[in-house]
Amino acid sequence: MEVAPGIHSMWQKNGAYVHAFLLDDGQGLTLVDTLYDTDAHRVLDELEAMGKKPEDIKHIIMTHCHRSHMGGLARLQQMSGAPVYAHEWESDLIAGERAAQPVSWLPHPPYRTWPLQIVLNLNVSHHPPVTVDNYVHDGDRIGPLTVVFAPGHSPGHLAFWWPERRLLIAGDAVCTWPSFRLGWRGFTLNRKQHERSLHRLAELDSEVLCVGHGEPLATGGAARIRAALDAQK
Ligand SMILES: [Zn+2]
Ligand SMILES: [Zn+2]
Repeated sequence: MEVAPGIHSMWQKNGAYVHAFLLDDGQGLTLVDTLYDTDAHRVLDELEAMGKKPEDIKHIIMTHCHRSHMGGLARLQQMSGAPVYAHEWESDLIAGERAAQPVSWLPHPPYRTWPLQIVLNLNVSHHPPVTVDNYVHDGDRIGPLTVVFAPGHSPGHLAFWWPERRLLIAGDAVCTWPSFRLGWRGFTLNRKQHERSLHRLAELDSEVLCVGHGEPLATGGAARIRAALDAQK
């Protein structure tokens, strides 16, 4: 589905309404995250609907490395030959060398994420491992995107900003499933970092807001984040 010109959203129910994004700036495609299923069929279907091929993907960037976002990575890397980018803190997770840091065992709102917390902590579901080609840092440019280091949900969590389209990809710092929230509390590893990251994201004048779980917002992104931050004061 095309959320706005050049911004394609793909999703699946497995992995808690997880979303990934294909961005077309006319110079080739940039893929952000890869959904849950290891066959990457949703991303491949969207490519076909766009009249594109896997080789048209020039960059694959990971917001962070929870299982829901990494399923299709190995297959898409093989099919596209594109370099994979992530923060250094997440790269050994992608390579399968380390399990994700455990999150809270306790229920926190939204309570529908509680079973997901347990699944993460039990480390029962694994993705096909991939070696990260490039470590990225705050301010780096990849395709049309500027990297925004936004830790808190995880230590190497990244957001991405496409200024010309006023697009913010907030990763799991913000969610719209099961409702709009400033992240899932039970998954936030460092609340202070998370708060700081949210204030940075709110400063970006985004219109389109794409998030890791739940539907994207086509309009009013920054205003929505600012209002939610004001409401929790
Ligand atoms: Zn996550
Ligand atoms: Zn997630």
